[in-house]
Amino acid sequence: MTGGKKTKIIKEIIVNVDKCTGCRSCEMACSAFHSVPKYSSLNPARARIRVFMDETKDLYVPIRAGDYTQAECNGRNRYTIAGKEYSQCTFCPASCPSRDYFKEPDSGLPLKCDMCESVPPLEEPMCVQACKFDALTYMEREEVIPEEEIQRGEMEAGIASLIHKYGAKSVRDAVARATKR
Ligand code: SF4
Ligand code: SF4
Repeated sequence: MTGGKKTKIIKEIIVNVDKCTGCRSCEMACSAFHSVPKYSSLNPARARIRVFMDETKDLYVPIRAGDYTQAECNGRNRYTIAGKEYSQCTFCPASCPSRDYFKEPDSGLPLKCDMCESVPPLEEPMCVQACKFDALTYMEREEVIPEEEIQRGEMEAGIASLIHKYGAKSVRDAVARATKR
């Protein structure tokens, strides 16, 4: 740490859509890793990665689950790829009320990619290990950022996790009670 700044490791998965064959091994590996107990089942509906497939255009796009959003967005882009139009929802990583993507099939709870959190840590995320076509490449890079930004990120991640567990209203009520003390 130097002068109020910290070095943060940024983890990335680089997706090369041109190399993706739509084999869906990434979905299988992710769902197996996240099943309870680990590797006890294979269910792509539980995967935190989904491969959008349009065989007519030979288009396969792996998409990792991002943050949960409570409301569907009201402004959307449209994408034209190889002469065919797709809505923004097609490639969106959010778990959202308007579609079934990235929801745990039994509970309906949102799923989010955790880059395969594990103790001890994985050398590479499971989906990257499973991809035999080099469509997914794992990379780590260092980024120097202000310490407050890291703290804010940690705080927001903590609040998001509380909201996920107890609901937004309970968290709001708890904050209101705590600030009165
Ligand atoms: S990085 Fe891990 S959690 Fe994220 S999509 Fe890939 S296998 Fe699933
Ligand atoms: S494992 Fe690789 S090639 Fe197969 S669907 Fe996933 S990203 Fe595409």
